[in-house]
Amino acid sequence: MPIAIFDMDGVLYRGAQVLPYAHETLAQLRGSGWQVYFATNNSTATRGEYVARLEQLGLGGDEEHVVTSAYATAHHLERRDPKPRDVFVVGADALRSEIQSVGIPVRQAAELPGSHPPPAAAADGVDPPAMRAYLTSLDLPAPADTVVVGLDLHLTYAKLAEAQRAILAGALFVASNKDRAYPVEGRLLPGAGSIVAALEIATGKKALCIGKPEPFLFEEVLRRAGVRPPLIGPRRERVLVIGDSTDYDMVAAHRVGATGVLITTGLTEADAVSDAQGEAAPDHVIHSLEELFPLLA
Ligand SMILES: [Mg+2]
Repeated sequence: MPIAIFDMDGVLYRGAQVLPYAHETLAQLRGSGWQVYFATNNSTATRGEYVARLEQLGLGGDEEHVVTSAYATAHHLERRDPKPRDVFVVGADALRSEIQSVGIPVRQAAELPGSHPPPAAAADGVDPPAMRAYLTSLDLPAPADTVVVGLDLHLTYAKLAEAQRAILAGALFVASNKDRAYPVEGRLLPGAGSIVAALEIATGKKALCIGKPEPFLFEEVLRRAGVRPPLIGPRRERVLVIGDSTDYDMVAAHRVGATGVLITTGLTEADAVSDAQGEAAPDHVIHSLEELFPLLA
């Protein structure tokens, strides 16, 4: 059965607005026997929350067909040997809960050493040495065996310190994704990659990245669809990735051997298409989902 893997934001919708032909495209694919999957680097929402959003936008889909970087990270950890037994997450609750749901113990945010500074230490500019005195006075638990980093809208210096301590003590260092930016209503915020980079600098170690452009996220989709990589020959044509970024979606598509269809409705700059080289160069460029129909024939 052919497989279509959609990036969501910028491809099927932008914010609360469904993009033209999204409904028709998904209906046509499903009607002609394609398996439709949704894949995202976002690790701050659970699959259930994505299913609810897709439902609200009338795009269909269920938890079986949504793969987030949080979910792919959890399943990557689950398959490792030895399997992690004590995970410290710098990231959102969704990332913690996906890891917990594969049966791996995760430290809760409130257990973090340094999460309850006295007011003078917490307030910027009141007593500058107080935070250092507080952090160095803590009774520290044994470091976690694994550190997982994703987008954390509540990042603190204490979290970075705890992650640095564990990684320097030898913990496995995994990033759900390394996105530069987090595009939200009307502006860009720093993405998970900015936090990963801080810890890479702090430790001199490189994180294993699960999200796009690395292949693990799409490999998780293929595993769920019962398809074994590598995709070679005519099988390539049976797996399409439809995304709006050359250096994330197209590269990851090619790393699993899929056919990359770039749509220019999202963040894509005109230059990004002409400058894309090697793995980042799309197999097809479309300007609207309507142009996908002829490619399916
Ligand atoms: Mg996108």
